[in-house]
Amino acid sequence: MTEVREPDLIDAQAMGRALLDWFDRHARDLPWRRNPDLYRTWISEMMLQQTTVAAVVPFWERFIARFPDVQALAAADEAEVLALWSGLGYYRRARMLHAAARRIVGVGGGRLPADRDGWADLPGVGEYAAGAIASIGLGEAVPALDANARRVLVRWAAAGPETAAAWSGTRLRSLAAGLVPADRPGAWNEALMELGATVCRARDPRCRDCPVARWCRAGRAGTAALVPAPAARTAAQPVVLSMALVRRGDELLLLPPGCGPVPAPSAWGEPARADLGGLHRGLWGLPTTPWYRPPADDQAWQQEQLDHWRCWIGPALAVPPTCAGRVSHAITRYRLAVTVVAMTLTGAAEPPSAGVAGAIWTRLPTHRPLSKLVRKVVAVESHPSG
Ligand code: SF4
Repeated sequence: MTEVREPDLIDAQAMGRALLDWFDRHARDLPWRRNPDLYRTWISEMMLQQTTVAAVVPFWERFIARFPDVQALAAADEAEVLALWSGLGYYRRARMLHAAARRIVGVGGGRLPADRDGWADLPGVGEYAAGAIASIGLGEAVPALDANARRVLVRWAAAGPETAAAWSGTRLRSLAAGLVPADRPGAWNEALMELGATVCRARDPRCRDCPVARWCRAGRAGTAALVPAPAARTAAQPVVLSMALVRRGDELLLLPPGCGPVPAPSAWGEPARADLGGLHRGLWGLPTTPWYRPPADDQAWQQEQLDHWRCWIGPALAVPPTCAGRVSHAITRYRLAVTVVAMTLTGAAEPPSAGVAGAIWTRLPTHRPLSKLVRKVVAVESHPSG
């Protein structure tokens, strides 16, 4: 570990020992930390981006059981990879992971990259993930700065919010790089992130329980909760839409990946967004309207949805459509309020063909990849919210 001169982290070796001792005693028991190897570390880092540890654990275990190595992952269909990712969100990660596995097997002869730069060249592996994989899986002495590690470092360096702003970009990366010990770089990076996740938390840092409090400027100054100054948050944009649960006997109508929204009446005006675009590429869906800004008259909007889906289905409808409930869901900067319309068709009726080429009838559960939103909507019928 090198001597770090700025700002006054003068005894980096003692601080490093204290942090690693704490990590050795308090590290959470996570499945990817047992029998770790490079491949398993890679999968965990891809899943952990923008997702909590608790949410990732069961997905990681299922994924590793099905794809124990990069060859198995590369040989799979993208649809199967997405199916195992279904419910975890941010599906682009799964597509990138699969593309990277195919590149490793197809171009690299199945050998995983041997350093950070090699990892950073792969689809879906950014600067943070490349550092985490290389330090944890390869023992390379490079930093890995996720949001938790950044927060901890800024608090170590800045005594208050007014000086915290200076600790970003190159300066913060340089501080981080100078602290990584050559003998245990992976454990150091994990310890830093673990400290941020469990002790040096964003809103209520537990400085009294902190193993490195004596070296921490914000901790000593009692300003930790103010450092770094919270970023101005962009308000989520509320939108409304409706999705149709169309049943025929015990089968449900699913639309194929890439199927856009069902055309909506022009009287509804300009959509706020046409559909999920590339967000849910590769996933199966339900008949869905475009997204609109919330209407002034919510009751009229609900009735309009029932009328719209009844017209879309036509005479095959056995009973009038009903509103099965509403679902709230956040996607990127949108806050969705989804009206769920339930419809049952008669006999062997087929759905309208407009906009739904490739639609299928299927029984649930299905092996096909579904988004978290579709799962929530399907669950409304068993847990109606009114
Ligand atoms: Fe974070 Fe407080 Fe520990 Fe500093 S002393 S690292 S602010 S928990």
